Amino acid sequence: METVSLLIPCYNEQESLSFLYAEINKLTSKLSGYNFELIFVDDGSKDLTLKIIKQYAASDSRVKYLSFSRNFGKEAAIYAGLSHCGGDYTALLDADLQDPPELIEQMLESIKTEDYDCIAARRTTRAGEPPIRSFFANLFYRLINKLSNIEIVNGARDFRLMKRDVVNSIVSMNEYNRFSKGLFGWVGYKTKWISYENVERVAGQTKWSFWKLFLYSIDGITAFSTVPLAFASVIGVLFFLIAVISIIFIIIRTSIWGDPVAGWPALVCIILFVSSIQLLCLGIIGQYLAKTYLESKKRPVYLLRETNIESN
Ligand code: UDP
Ligand code: MG
Repeated sequence: METVSLLIPCYNEQESLSFLYAEINKLTSKLSGYNFELIFVDDGSKDLTLKIIKQYAASDSRVKYLSFSRNFGKEAAIYAGLSHCGGDYTALLDADLQDPPELIEQMLESIKTEDYDCIAARRTTRAGEPPIRSFFANLFYRLINKLSNIEIVNGARDFRLMKRDVVNSIVSMNEYNRFSKGLFGWVGYKTKWISYENVERVAGQTKWSFWKLFLYSIDGITAFSTVPLAFASVIGVLFFLIAVISIIFIIIRTSIWGDPVAGWPALVCIILFVSSIQLLCLGIIGQYLAKTYLESKKRPVYLLRETNIESN
């Protein structure tokens, strides 16, 4: 019998877990032709999340858990879970039921009967999301798809079902700065997208503030594109050309009409403009340098505090 691993990153999800566990049980009893393995990754929760998961594990041998020493972020939780899951298929889903477990039945059906390695979900609407957030999200997807050569689908969630090969490929990328949507795109494989209506989280609060999402989008762009680095060179060449033309223009004008000293406000504006562009470029280089610095330390992506998975 084939095994399906369900991987669930959890950070302060005490309110949602019981709903999720009930839904998963509904799904697993329906799909009796498969073995299931439930891997809960407790990402350093400060509430009763770990305690609840341990209660499930005590009465349900399918439940495995990994608990981090602190909050390392969802990306680290995904990496830890993928490194420890043993199923022929692995489904990654959120703890808040925004990724409806019942879709996994349809995903399994597709992956078995059609020639796909990965079935991924995307939401069709951004209903229930503040308009400003949707605006910036759309802008981000447009930008990253222009700047990098991997395709990142707008509205794609991390919710997906993967074959073993895909999981192994993702795990083999052990970089420190992890941007899953990019990693999934980078490894390739045949992916089928299924659409579903956005649903609100069942309980609890989202862990993503606008600022966190903004920083995450910058991480995504620097991780998968070096185009911003070329920006400095392009702007440099452009300004050089403008400077040469201006110098020629001023020499000619002065030799014909003389040199009335005027125009210092314009000069101040130009100095401010050029130095702000220089700072912007320095900032861009700094972003990449910081990423290189963090990678070069080779720190572990996460630290485990507790688990019931025996290491092999
Ligand atoms: N999550 C996590 N670590 C974090 C933040 C979130 O493991 O630092 C988990 C969270 O428990 C949930 C999933 O990632 O299962 C998605 O988080 P959330 O629902 O807050 O994000 P949203 O759906 O609002 O994008
Ligand atoms: Mg959510």
